[in-house]
Amino acid sequence: MLLGLSKIIDCPGASLPFAISLDLSDLRFGNCYPLSESVDAEGIIRNTAGVLMMKGNIRTCIHGICDRCAGSFDRDMEVPIDVVLVTELADEDNEDEWVFPLEGDSADLEDIVRTVFVLNMDSKLLCKEDCKGLCCRCGTNLNEGPCSCQKELDPRFAALKQLLEK
Ligand SMILES: [Zn+2]
Ligand SMILES: [Zn+2]
Repeated sequence: MLLGLSKIIDCPGASLPFAISLDLSDLRFGNCYPLSESVDAEGIIRNTAGVLMMKGNIRTCIHGICDRCAGSFDRDMEVPIDVVLVTELADEDNEDEWVFPLEGDSADLEDIVRTVFVLNMDSKLLCKEDCKGLCCRCGTNLNEGPCSCQKELDPRFAALKQLLEK
């Protein structure tokens, strides 16, 4: 979706609100497609002393599968939008992912929101930051408590472990 900015592009102090709803259900993260709900963004584009600043928020609820324990989880997600829109990408600015070029005098809202959202997604989807995962021996979900593997440690290993820890 293109948002025409001709009214504010040459007019310092002017601003234009925006709102868009995206379907990002085709995006895969880890082992799942967590964006089954719509991704909603809203905010304002303001001409600040000749620079077009786009600020706002992206909101959705992700329905993920934990990469570590394979449990499913729901989580509200809110991502800030804070980007600069430019008519031309200067060569030295190309490394900066928070600068987006305009299409003529319009902003490609869908592309910007999608990019900002994806850059804010964690590369690993975890049900919680300190997810303990599954025991690699018995497969018990360690978030629900310790498994019996620890207790069954071979006494010779225990002795070796003690030795190594000294
Ligand atoms: Zn987990
Ligand atoms: Zn175990």
